[in-house]
Amino acid sequence: GSEDAPPANLTDDQLLDGLLTAAFSLQSCRSRYEFAGYHQKKPAHKPSPYLIAKLRKYEELQKRCGPGTAPYKKALRRLKSGNGATAAADDCRYLVSISYDRGLGNRILAIVSAFLYAVLTERALLVSQYNGDVAALFCEAFPGTTWLLPDGRRFPLRRLWDLDRKSKESLGTLLKTNAISVAGVNGTSSWSGRPPAYVFLHLDGGADYHDKLFYCDEQQRLLHGTPWLLMKTDSYLVPGLFLVPSLRGELERMFPEKDAVFHQLGRYLLHPANAVWHAITAYHRAHLAGAGQLVGVQIRVYHKETPAVSQVVLDQALSCARREKLLPAAGTTNTSSDQAVLVTSLSSWYYERIRDEVGGAVSGGVHQPSHEGRQQMGNTAHDMRALSEMYLLSTCDVLLTTGFSTFGYVAQGLAGVRPWIMPRRPWWEKEPAMEVPEPPCTRVASPEPCFHSPSYYDCAARRNYDHIGKAVPYVRRCDDVSWGIQLV
Ligand code: GDP
Repeated sequence: GSEDAPPANLTDDQLLDGLLTAAFSLQSCRSRYEFAGYHQKKPAHKPSPYLIAKLRKYEELQKRCGPGTAPYKKALRRLKSGNGATAAADDCRYLVSISYDRGLGNRILAIVSAFLYAVLTERALLVSQYNGDVAALFCEAFPGTTWLLPDGRRFPLRRLWDLDRKSKESLGTLLKTNAISVAGVNGTSSWSGRPPAYVFLHLDGGADYHDKLFYCDEQQRLLHGTPWLLMKTDSYLVPGLFLVPSLRGELERMFPEKDAVFHQLGRYLLHPANAVWHAITAYHRAHLAGAGQLVGVQIRVYHKETPAVSQVVLDQALSCARREKLLPAAGTTNTSSDQAVLVTSLSSWYYERIRDEVGGAVSGGVHQPSHEGRQQMGNTAHDMRALSEMYLLSTCDVLLTTGFSTFGYVAQGLAGVRPWIMPRRPWWEKEPAMEVPEPPCTRVASPEPCFHSPSYYDCAARRNYDHIGKAVPYVRRCDDVSWGIQLV
């Protein structure tokens, strides 16, 4: 057979119990069918047959509507002409996920959120590139088509990352300027003039009340026929989607287990490109494989914080590890535990201290793949190392992560592991913590990422929720971010 022939005999494990199809060649994307082999434990929940069927249907939609197809050309012409219109029932509709200057963890949460919304609303997903790095980081997600938004002259809208709350095409602005006539009680909203060819959804951390009316059924109904939606977010919107009544039924069928949504979607959608996967597997083989238990420690200190290395943060991690017996007691030298420790951080200082403390007592040693010094934007090699480390952390049996960090969320979600999370001050607090909080860490309720900027508005009741957990029992306040919500 040809080099690119689809593989014949993949196991259920390799196919993640049906999440993946065997439609891709092994060579094109090694991680796709190899990732499962890096997890010793079987996932707690198998994907539901309904989710699997939904994904297969979605792959057909993406193939029918993706770039290069006749429906795509038609939709593009409509976008170019700027002629407002409502998509006909058999037209293809699109969701563009806008990449912009955010860390990789944030961007991954954004892409997974956009994907789920696209599946729910039967829109083809197109991920915009930011410095071309999506293609360098990930394999194509869907068979026989592309998920990358064609760039440059081939797409009529430019500089998508510049769209913001003030943009006249944003849903929030449209609502504020009465381009949408909002329904009275029991009525429905409608476009005041001609419906627009595209609507921009401003759903990042700075979204305001009007932007967040996106999470209301009324707005969902209105947006249904819009041919193009452009979504800009840095958050994990999924818990917010579960709070939209018209989406909830479908979501509950797809995900009988609410604490495995990111785990399943991330493992379906995201596959490190070959160069990244090579780095992951080579590092794993050289330093981590063979240990009875892998312990991952993720230390995230924002570089704006002074000092850049913090004794308090180190003490917090060590105190958590001691208290929860994640690692042998510091100073133990002769009792060798069958563990290896993976430390990730922008600085090497934490790694060196942890190695000094426990290195003698763990048979597999203490390891740190890189220490990048500081966070960089738009540097593909830097992002590739970040992605490798998220995936290496996701192979760990035990995770100790830093609260608030989307980098850690991606690792825990892919792993399907409930981490011990160290509470930390939000990034806008200029002063570093002066003492270790008590307790230094807590075991979080689920591996799901926390949604940092939910809407508190109960659209049906037309006022804010009294208590978010009353709306649906599996949406709760996050352990690490008091105003965030999480699926459990
Ligand atoms: P968050 O800011 O903690 O929510 O995580 P993000 O991933 O969104 O942004 C942080 C960025 O800083 C990452 O994408 C990396 O570029 C970099 N970074 C932070 N911590 C690490 C680390 O432990 N290892 C590596 N390689 N990069 C890191």
